[in-house]
Amino acid sequence: MELPFENVKYLGEDTSISCPVCHCNIFYLEKGLPEIACPTCQVHGTVSFTGSKYKVAWNEDDIKNPRFSTARQHHHGEWIRNHFKEETPQIAMQETQTKMKQYQAWGIIYNQLTPKNNIISNKEVPRTWQQTRDMPKT
Ligand SMILES: [Zn+2]
Repeated sequence: MELPFENVKYLGEDTSISCPVCHCNIFYLEKGLPEIACPTCQVHGTVSFTGSKYKVAWNEDDIKNPRFSTARQHHHGEWIRNHFKEETPQIAMQETQTKMKQYQAWGIIYNQLTPKNNIISNKEVPRTWQQTRDMPKT
């Protein structure tokens, strides 16, 4: 446990394109090729194909601070706090409250649509859904 992270050697199977942090070889295209990123660690890289081999130039800063590092966790917490401050007034708006009630009503409807309880009360169905349900079938 006292071994510095840089000196830790991965003992599993590795490929030329494995993530340098978690060693998986599944990536997502955030912006499109040749840019790739590990969906777990959010380490970014640029993939190239030379001869018959793939190679990835990994972002060294991402390797030092992958998604679950203390620095990135702190950044994520700051992001959530900032959005909470910005969005609180928006959430308090009447228009937003109305939409939230509609979405919550959909949850009530979904919970009522079980095989043993397939009856929905009109009181809890949003108006737009009542209209859809009451439309004649073609
Ligand atoms: Zn990874």
